[in-house]
Amino acid sequence: MNDDAPRIHLGSLLRAPGDVSASGEVQELHYEQAGRPQTLRFAEPAPYGIDINSLDGNEFWLQGYFEPVLSQECSRCLKPVTVPLELNLGTLMQYRPAVPESFLEEAETGEELLVFGNPDLNLSNYLAEMTLLNSPLSVLHDPDCKGLCQVCGHDLNEGPCEHSAGVPIEDERPMGLGTQEGSQHARQNPFAALSGLKLPED
Ligand SMILES: [Zn+2]
Ligand SMILES: [Zn+2]
Repeated sequence: MNDDAPRIHLGSLLRAPGDVSASGEVQELHYEQAGRPQTLRFAEPAPYGIDINSLDGNEFWLQGYFEPVLSQECSRCLKPVTVPLELNLGTLMQYRPAVPESFLEEAETGEELLVFGNPDLNLSNYLAEMTLLNSPLSVLHDPDCKGLCQVCGHDLNEGPCEHSAGVPIEDERPMGLGTQEGSQHARQNPFAALSGLKLPED
């Protein structure tokens, strides 16, 4: 159905140990989530490179990279933000002949295991899942984004509106109070959880 789907051919690996690789670019990925067809579109063609080599028996090791650029909205002001991801892939694979569509499951070791049954492996499900697992839940177009006025929806990055004019600017507060409120705010700020994620510098 999707001739442009990223694929890698594993027939030779199933006959004899070795390694195979595939690379290319994808503009979008068609995959299934809970049985429903989904499409993940990227802001620009996303390059990938995949190398798979034989381990013992019916197990294989997949490694490679995938560098999609996502289009998301600033969580505060809803401006479009592009989010480039650099994914380093490393996943154990297992061949089970009866499996029609590849899927990820948790192995006994706790590691993720990519199970496949078709030697002509469509990588769409895998790449989409890796992208979603590594996407930030929310992004800011600028760390100092002032957001939208909650009363009138005005973009406060463009200047104050009548509702924000009376609010004291944080920098003018006494230093002790400002620091205390600042740290408290940081703890409660839902975006603070993102600080551990690898985000683009610019
Ligand atoms: Zn913003
Ligand atoms: Zn307003």
